[in-house]
Formats: sequence, structure tokens, C-alpha cells
Amino acid sequence: MARTEKGATQDTVRRHNLGTLLGHLHRHGPTSRARLTRILGLNRATIGYLVDDLAARGLVTETPETEQAPRGRPSKVVAVRGDLHQALAVHVGVDAVELALVGLGGAILARRRSAFSRPGDRSVEHIVRAISRLAAKVLAEATGALVGVGVAVPGTVSPDGAIVTFAPNLRWRQVPLARLLQQELGVGAAVRVGNDANLGAVAEHSRGVGIQVNDLVYLHAEVGVGAGIITGGRMLEGAGGYAGEVGHMQLNPGGLSCHCGSRGCWETEVGEDALVRRVGLPPGGRSKVDLVLRRARDGDRVCREAVEETARWLSVGLVNMLAALDPEMVILGGVFEQILDICPETLANRVAQTSRYFHPDGVALVRPTFGRSSVLLGAAELGLRTVLEDPASVSPMTELRPLNLDQAPVHPRCPTGPRRRIESPGNPPVSELNPRTDRLAVALKESVVRIS
Ligand SMILES: [Zn+2]
Repeated sequence: MARTEKGATQDTVRRHNLGTLLGHLHRHGPTSRARLTRILGLNRATIGYLVDDLAARGLVTETPETEQAPRGRPSKVVAVRGDLHQALAVHVGVDAVELALVGLGGAILARRRSAFSRPGDRSVEHIVRAISRLAAKVLAEATGALVGVGVAVPGTVSPDGAIVTFAPNLRWRQVPLARLLQQELGVGAAVRVGNDANLGAVAEHSRGVGIQVNDLVYLHAEVGVGAGIITGGRMLEGAGGYAGEVGHMQLNPGGLSCHCGSRGCWETEVGEDALVRRVGLPPGGRSKVDLVLRRARDGDRVCREAVEETARWLSVGLVNMLAALDPEMVILGGVFEQILDICPETLANRVAQTSRYFHPDGVALVRPTFGRSSVLLGAAELGLRTVLEDPASVSPMTELRPLNLDQAPVHPRCPTGPRRRIESPGNPPVSELNPRTDRLAVALKESVVRIS
């Protein structure tokens, strides 16, 4: 049911509805005007007005193809434009930093990765410089204006997205990363920082396997382990922003010491270092992890047992999380996706055995739609936030430079280059109404504001 706010001004209502419409197209892909009319609960004239407004700002386009509406009238199909407004997405890992240029709609237009080779490479100064170097290369391939920068880090972040409060595996405390990057990159666009697992959850919840699933856990594992927890449709932050630091649940009090200062944390048993340690290799480096996983798939007994033992410890923590959170779905990201691939029975059986009492129907353990790109795409959501929340913050095209994409730059930091093949994570196909999209329709109608 649409709600009415008598006090809302027309401009406030227009901006809100522009954001609702653009957000739908960004998350769900091309949609006909007729379908937008149905699922947003607005009349055709209002939808036309909103679409024209977004098109004037270069945020959407309408394809010449038409779709037959129920009463026989043809309807244009509306889609976001990913070529004019883009975000820089950054994923800071423990062994590498990765950047991508991501357009509206989630298309990855360019990406670069730089692996760390020495422990000193994890210093704040080195990582900020590495991001700057990669950003220069990625932005050289941009075709539009930079609207924001989103950064994912393996640690806790202040609620305003400005400061990394604690990242144990990087040895960072109270790092004002947003300000440092703003200065180093020299961009006017907002820089926002978020926790890596939280951003993976955002990507999968908004555009991936967890779309419309309101109670889910996205578990991300590299050297460290974290969880993005969405409960009742909202991200669980906790009083101090530490919710989801599940890698530091103490599961083996007699186990190894952890970077956080404790002992026997979950990530000392299931993180990448634990996996390579089980085959007798010193920890460090993605290549060793990939080697162990590849040999396990090929049937190497020692590597297979290392993955199985890691899966058993993974199930121990999983069961505890299921008991505490009662999610509908658990998405296993990072190295956990590989462990699920290699030994699904070990995980499923042990979780089912020990959670039967409170989960008689079981729980879905699933791979992330975006694989290793989930966190990066979640960072892109952070970078695109300003435009998605308030499309009217983008000036109409008449105030922008000419849009000849093969020649003229449209932003001083984003010189126009030749058009590139777009690596699209793929939007879910837009289907006709069904129970799942009915829920979506209700949610969208509730988010639309009308003036009485
Ligand atoms: Zn710990």
C-alpha cells in the first residue's frame, strides 16, 4: 500500500521516486514502462515523467525494442546507462588490492589487481599508493564521470564510513582511510569505506543470489573470516560496528594465537593460512591456497584431507551462527566457495546433524552469484550510493559536456577512451509476476511516495 505524506514537498517526492525507480533498474535490469507502472503502483504519466527526468540526466536510456503490454499497447524498455556515471570500487585484501570501474547496473568496465609481495606492502602508506597507481590506470579507461569511490577492507569501520577502526590482519588501527584516499586520488567524489563481508552481503542481497532474502549471512574468507549479516532486511551493525566479526569467535581455546590477540579464533582453523598449514606449507600468498585447492580436486590425499578438515571446522562455526541468527540462507564467499565445491557432503551432513533441532528443514548453503567479485561489487554499491539515493544530484545532460563517447572526455579525471567490452555480472532476468516478484512489487509500492 502506498503511503501518503501530506507534508512532503513535490521536489522531495520527485527525488525519492526517482531514486526508487533508478534503484529498481540498477538491481533488476531492463524493465518495460508498463511493468514499472505495475510494480511501482504509479500511473503511466508519472512513470513517463520520471523516466524522462532520469534520461535527461544520462542515467537511463530506452531501447527501440518494444514489449507488448497486457492491453495491446507497445511499451518501451527502460535500462540504466552504465557508460556515463561510474564508481571506483576498491577491495583491500590481506595479500592484494583490487580495483574496478563499475557503471550503473553493475557492469565492470575495467579492473586491475596488485598482489603484495612483502609484509611491508600491507602498510597504510603502501596500500594508499597502490590504490592510487591502479586508479590512474583504471580511470584512464573510464567513459564517464566518477560519482563515488567505495572501498572494502578486512576490518571494522566507523559508522560514517571514514575510519578503519581495526583491521587485525593488516595491523591497522584507527586509520582515516577515506580522507587519505580523497587526498591521494584528488577526486571530488565521495570516498566511503566499508567492511568487506558486509559489502559482499550488500552485493548478493541487492543483485545476487540473496535478492529478496531478508535473513541471510554472507561469509567471506581469505586469510581472515568475516560475516555480513542481514536480518529482517537490514544489515546488522552492532553497537560499535563490530557485528559480523565471526572470524574471532573462539572455537578452539587450545588452538593457535590470532592476530587479534586472542587464541583459537575461528579463522585460525578455517582461514587460508590454516588450509596451507595443514599440508605443511608456511602461510602467505594466494598461489599456495590455489595449489592446495587444485590438488585436492585432482585427488591428492594430503590436500584433500586438509580441505576436509577445514570444512569440518567451518561446519562448527556455521552451526553456532545458525543457532544464533536463524538465517534463511548462508552464502559462502572467498575460499569457502571452493571448500563448498570440493566437499559439499562434509559441510552439508555435519551442519544438518548438529542443527537438526532448530533447523529441521535445513538451511541453504549457496555460492555467491558474483563469486570472487562479490566484495568488489559491494564496494561499487557504496561508490554509487549518492546517485542511487538521489539521482537529481546529477546535473541534466544539457549542463554536461557533449556525449560523443569516442572522442570527448566528460570528466577531467575520467578521460574518454575507446569503448571497451563490458564484463557484466549479469542481471537476473526480469520475469512476470510470481510470488517472489510480488513481494518485490509490494516493497516497491511501499517505498513510493505520493502527494494527496
Ligand atoms: Zn582472533
